[in-house]
Amino acid sequence: MNGRQSSSPSSRRRSEALFARARAVMPGGVNSPVRAFKAVGGSPPFIASAQGCRLVDADGGEYIDYVGSWGPMILGHSRPEVVKAIQQTAARGSSYGAPTELEVDLAEKVCSLVPSIDMVRLVNSGTEATMSALRVARAFSGRDLIFKFDGCYHGHGDSFLVQAGSGSLTLGMADSPGVPADFTRHTVSLPFNDLEVLKEAFHKHRGKVGAVILEPVTGNMGVIVPAKKYLQGVLELCAENGAVAIFDEVMTGFRLAFGGAQQMYGLEAPLTCLGKILGGGMPLGAYGGRRDIMEMVAPQGPVYQAGTLSGNPVAVSAGLQTLSLLEALDPYSELARRSEKLCQGIRQSAEDHGIALQVQHCGSMFTVYFNDQPVRDLASAQRCDVKRFGAFHGRLLDRGVYLAPSQFEACFLSISHDQQVIERTLQAVDEVLSTL
Ligand code: PLP
Repeated sequence: MNGRQSSSPSSRRRSEALFARARAVMPGGVNSPVRAFKAVGGSPPFIASAQGCRLVDADGGEYIDYVGSWGPMILGHSRPEVVKAIQQTAARGSSYGAPTELEVDLAEKVCSLVPSIDMVRLVNSGTEATMSALRVARAFSGRDLIFKFDGCYHGHGDSFLVQAGSGSLTLGMADSPGVPADFTRHTVSLPFNDLEVLKEAFHKHRGKVGAVILEPVTGNMGVIVPAKKYLQGVLELCAENGAVAIFDEVMTGFRLAFGGAQQMYGLEAPLTCLGKILGGGMPLGAYGGRRDIMEMVAPQGPVYQAGTLSGNPVAVSAGLQTLSLLEALDPYSELARRSEKLCQGIRQSAEDHGIALQVQHCGSMFTVYFNDQPVRDLASAQRCDVKRFGAFHGRLLDRGVYLAPSQFEACFLSISHDQQVIERTLQAVDEVLSTL
């Protein structure tokens, strides 16, 4: 790549012109809210190409990318084997609306990599996965009420936009107009990481709770690792109370380990949602789990869920190739080591410059919280200095480091983030922290 090392605001003229054009024809100028940089100020670089861990914007500016398309790009951008799989599959036809061998291969791979999944249904996004899993869980339990957790994000389905994380949290829209109150009265949102609260809530709504959905390690209010035995406690309480636990591993699946957070913590959830890495950068999601639950899905069972492009061969081939490469490379311990090095370096710089921040990470996911206390739930996340985060983000961007444009998001490493890249990042971080 021949782009400049970094892109200062004065050199983002083409991106700014594109943003102006975009705003005239697309709400906020984007197709997904957080991309608009509202939370950190300034206007977003428009991306022209990407390779490995680097992005190049429309003005030729180059960035070390810690967004990785919000998680999928664990192998880095434009990985040759994945590009080749996409090209070769597309050349044979991009969609048939009929079964393919590729789908069987991917379904078998998912079932073998995620021990809790006996059967799986492929869909087109993480949102579709969570919405569909919830329908199945409600049908299985015969109950409508669900519990979710404050600050967790499960896509933009109506039932989940109650105290939600990610873009809705970033933009102060944790509950959205347009979602009928009749829907949200079936959703109870509880503080994350507190088993006592969950126990009391089950007691209060005895016999009524059909499903409990959570991000086992959160990324959508920033990275929060669950308290010891929390996830096990959630599974036990669900089992005792006849509620189906849904682990939303759209972000953590194939990211923390092949089998996601469940593998990391040695647990198995009745239902699991997947997305992001599963599609290797193409639109693909999945939900799956226990055979007796998944057998309820049409056409085997009565729960209707369908999709014209579900199991799309191009997306499936990108996902298959990505998972096969991950199996061959088994990069998780090395990714965690590099991530630890980066996070430790940021902590050290902050200490040197007398700045209060928490760098929380799990495997190759991390968040730099401008907070003087560890963050363990939404309430503590909201005590962060978001203005300071905005300055940190903008100044890093000017030095060619592209972090997630919100205090309440996870950043990601890929296998392309090598020692040299980490050192360059740490140098930029140190310069920026010295100015805050
Ligand atoms: N669940 C989690 C945990 C997510 O992080 C996301 C997206 O960030 C979703 C669901 C929704 O996935 P998608 O954006 O593919 O619809």
